[in-house]
Amino acid sequence: MHERNRLRVLFYLPFLAYAYFSFTGQFVHNLNPLYLIAVPVLAALILLLSRNLWFFFLAIAANNLAVQLTGGSASQLFFFYFLLLFVEGFRTGHLRYIAAAALILTLEAGSALFYLSDTPFPFGTMGAFAAFAAIIYLFLRREKKHTDALAQTLEAEKAKYHPIDPLSSSRSERLAALKEKSYSVDADALYAGFVEFAFATLEVHTAALFLVHGKRLHMAAVCSRDERVHRTASFDLGEGLVGYLAREEKPSLLNDLGRDAERLGYYKEKINVTSLASAPIKSSDDVNYGILIVDAQRRLTEYDQGFLDNLASLIARDIQIAAAYEERHREALKFSGLYELAGNLLTGLSAEELIDRSFALVSELFAPDAIGFARLKKGTDGVVQRYEGGVDFDKKNFRFEAERSLVAMAAKHKGFLKHRDMSKPGLYRMGPGEQTPANKTFLGIGFDEDEETHGVLWLEKKEADAYSEREGKILGFAATLLSAAFLRVRYQEELSRLARLDGLTGLLNHRAFQDELQECIQKSGTVALFIIDIDHFKKVNDTYGHPVGDMVLAKIAESIKDKGIAARYGGEEFALIIPNIATQQMIGRGEEILTAIRRAQVRVREGTIQVTASVGGALYPSGSRTREDLVRAADAALYKAKQGGRDRLVLAEKK
Ligand code: GH3
Ligand code: MG
Ligand code: MG
Repeated sequence: MHERNRLRVLFYLPFLAYAYFSFTGQFVHNLNPLYLIAVPVLAALILLLSRNLWFFFLAIAANNLAVQLTGGSASQLFFFYFLLLFVEGFRTGHLRYIAAAALILTLEAGSALFYLSDTPFPFGTMGAFAAFAAIIYLFLRREKKHTDALAQTLEAEKAKYHPIDPLSSSRSERLAALKEKSYSVDADALYAGFVEFAFATLEVHTAALFLVHGKRLHMAAVCSRDERVHRTASFDLGEGLVGYLAREEKPSLLNDLGRDAERLGYYKEKINVTSLASAPIKSSDDVNYGILIVDAQRRLTEYDQGFLDNLASLIARDIQIAAAYEERHREALKFSGLYELAGNLLTGLSAEELIDRSFALVSELFAPDAIGFARLKKGTDGVVQRYEGGVDFDKKNFRFEAERSLVAMAAKHKGFLKHRDMSKPGLYRMGPGEQTPANKTFLGIGFDEDEETHGVLWLEKKEADAYSEREGKILGFAATLLSAAFLRVRYQEELSRLARLDGLTGLLNHRAFQDELQECIQKSGTVALFIIDIDHFKKVNDTYGHPVGDMVLAKIAESIKDKGIAARYGGEEFALIIPNIATQQMIGRGEEILTAIRRAQVRVREGTIQVTASVGGALYPSGSRTREDLVRAADAALYKAKQGGRDRLVLAEKK
């Protein structure tokens, strides 16, 4: 037998014993007539207030005891209890009350019979009470069966929604289930399932689930016999009967709703329901998720209520699991975004593209109302490189004081800088004329792009205090990746710059020279090309050695590098590109080159080294149509200069 029922039987046994002795006439004293009025009133009160059959039985026994101890026969009083029970049972349509009334009637009839005969007949009396005990036992068994059946359906329901119980199953089991996707959370289906289950099991008029969103309560699922139910009902916590019960966070059982039925709030019209039971849906750490409610036209019992409570705790657990699951999922998404960003480190993105990507990623991860990216260089103003968001401040390359703004503070701050309300005057210091920013939350992270430059990436959100510490840390992690990515961009830029230069002279190398020449030809009206070959350079090497020869080459490079776009064409050959030059200027520029080289002297221990050069010049487009033509023409002119005795300028003839 169930623990609670056993306790009940133990509790009633003394009363049963007392009733037996009372029945056999062993407590006969004078009756105080006051009890004739007081006791039935008390019994009626108990019935009205407690609505509990067990209390009522108790009251009957207590009354009987009181009456008998004061010397009366309680038989007359039984009549009142019978009447009360009968009326209450009839009114609520509840069988148990009718049964109790019938039982009392039987006992009364038996008692009257024995007293009429006026001879003690213990076997008959014992028989009557044995029957009474048997009826109580049968009643308890029925109740227990009912609860067991409820518990069983609950278990079955549990199994349906939890093929894998995340709280008790092993990790490997859960992982396997996740892989097979057999454990997934579809909140709507889940809520609807629970509500339907309560509706069908308890056979109520309407079962509904309301969930808390902020300060409001929204109907999440409903199942009703009634067409007039409001399927999208919602109210404030504390508003109406449901709102009140949800705010109280306590289980409730209200029979005789009476006028309160009008305050239910989820029917479109007045509805004839008499009873309501509810159970709060609370997480294990006491978060109020909402309320599960059933209403009925019959009397609801504590068993219905207990069932509802169990179901509510099941729903609460599922919501909690679903929330945790969703949180993990979101987190996994965030980290996969970061992973993607990390991948960008390896790709050849430019700085601009990098900002593009990080803006896209950050919008996806944090859903901000505005994103900004600024650069702060040592000793200069900060510059907003990009800003996306509805605020009207000068977005592109907007300058701000590097010392005072929140963005600059974020650059200097270690880790992320969060401000819960940046709309306070004089804090943001970004907009023109110190306008109050439209957004409140500020979450910024500074990172080094190189030794001189700090980047700041920041988010803004309309609501105050919108981002958590955890989100700050995730942004910080993103910034670390960005920092590395920007550094990579810098190195790459530096590398590609170096790849175009000649190591010894710092002039453009041969390939860069060809590219540059091509570009000039495409862009400029005229392009002059001078090819320069040092005269008798072999001699320099032979006399002073190669290292000194190199010094001389470097010196010559130095002397011609500001005469145009200078390149080292070959070993001791140089080239100069001069775009947009008139034909008449060609000779002048050529002579300038010769003079410059003559002047480029290198002092060594043995004396001063001075060299001359032969220069061939050609002009695009007057003499040549293509780059190759131009080079060929200049080369030919150079050859002529060598032939003509060196240390001179020869210009290609116009074709
Ligand atoms: P010229 O041009 O007047 O006919 O005589 P040259 O002696 O300068 O002959 P050429 O133009 O053929 O020059 C080739 C010499 O340049 C060979 C090599 O010793 C020297 N040379 C080429 N590249 C370098 C270099 O990088 N460093 C040094 N020190 N010498 C170089
Ligand atoms: Mg040469
Ligand atoms: Mg030479």
